[in-house]
Amino acid sequence: MSALHPIRPQSPSKSPNQSQSQLVDPFGRHVDYLRVSVTDRCDFRCVYCMAETMTFLPKREVLSLEELDRLCSAFIARGVRKLRITGGEPLVRKNILWLFQRLGRHLEAGALDDLTLTTNGSQLTHYAPQLYAAGVRRVNVSLDTLDRAKFAAITRRGRLEQVLDGLKAAKKAGLEIKINAVALRGINDQEFDEMIRFCGIHGFDLTLIETMPLGEIEEDRTDRYLPLSAVRADLESRWTLTDSAYRTGGPARYMIIKETGRKLGFITPLTHNFCEGCNRVRLTCTGLLYLCLGQDDKADLRRVLRDKTYANDPRALDAALDLALDEAISRKPKGHDFVIERKGEGPALSRHMSVTGG
Ligand code: SAM
Ligand code: SF4
Repeated sequence: MSALHPIRPQSPSKSPNQSQSQLVDPFGRHVDYLRVSVTDRCDFRCVYCMAETMTFLPKREVLSLEELDRLCSAFIARGVRKLRITGGEPLVRKNILWLFQRLGRHLEAGALDDLTLTTNGSQLTHYAPQLYAAGVRRVNVSLDTLDRAKFAAITRRGRLEQVLDGLKAAKKAGLEIKINAVALRGINDQEFDEMIRFCGIHGFDLTLIETMPLGEIEEDRTDRYLPLSAVRADLESRWTLTDSAYRTGGPARYMIIKETGRKLGFITPLTHNFCEGCNRVRLTCTGLLYLCLGQDDKADLRRVLRDKTYANDPRALDAALDLALDEAISRKPKGHDFVIERKGEGPALSRHMSVTGG
């Protein structure tokens, strides 16, 4: 692990000018990437992500689209350059296009470099052209298998064709596409060659993800856990993989597949530590800011947002949000301590991925 140079947390009591400074955590890491879950709801029930019967949050607890815009804009004012909208399934949220269109103003102003989303692809046939028009240029689409029956079994309610049509529409609209596939032992582990070929033909990148112990589900995740170190060794007997210097500040490491010319990513939060370069925080649809995907420490930004003291004073609210961001970032932990749950024990963290976003 590289040496980290702790710096003193920024003081919350700063002058107004200083309060517009960048968000830097106590370990000197610049937080310039925000992932935002805009809903905990979804039209699928992927076996590793959700239980068959989920109790979703009451609407009043979920931030309105206006509140989400306000919070995202507060982060952008503090130096966040990349925004990923996720969920749940972001595209099932009513009127979601409004949020993309609103956030698009920060792209036009040059304050934001990248507005993107992670989606299961089920609604892309409808939304792809409008997302492009709003300024979105890249999209991550989750697709774990190309086998119709397996797809139905993994997602419990999805149809493979719906997602393939969505991919077609996204490509036609001009969106760059990365496919995310969770590696599941005994389910899709024989399919990676086919997925690499599929992505090569269509010009998509591919990222494989290890299962993470988040949220109660019916299955025992230890049965499905597939270490990507083994997958890589196996793929290397048939494909020429060259390490790429490309980094996103997240848990993915990338390779170039010589035969297809496309990127192959591995997200291995359990087998490798990826924390020292971490540049991101995650906002839930209820306004909780999680400082680390693998830890429970958080800040309640909805409480600030809905504080009646600021009801008629937008400048005071901005200042209060600024202070809350400083205070939260000063608590960002050095790293996580995920361990895939031992057989029969509960998940490492009780919240579902659909709450914090992937
Ligand atoms: N519904 C959208 C989708 O599926 O792309 C966005 C939200 S989903 C929670 C984001 C990503 O998290 C997906 O790629 C999904 O496969 C992944 N994911 C969900 N639960 C996971 C888990 N327990 N371990 C690893 N990845 C998980
Ligand atoms: Fe829905 Fe995405 Fe979770 Fe699947 S992974 S259940 S599509 S939120």
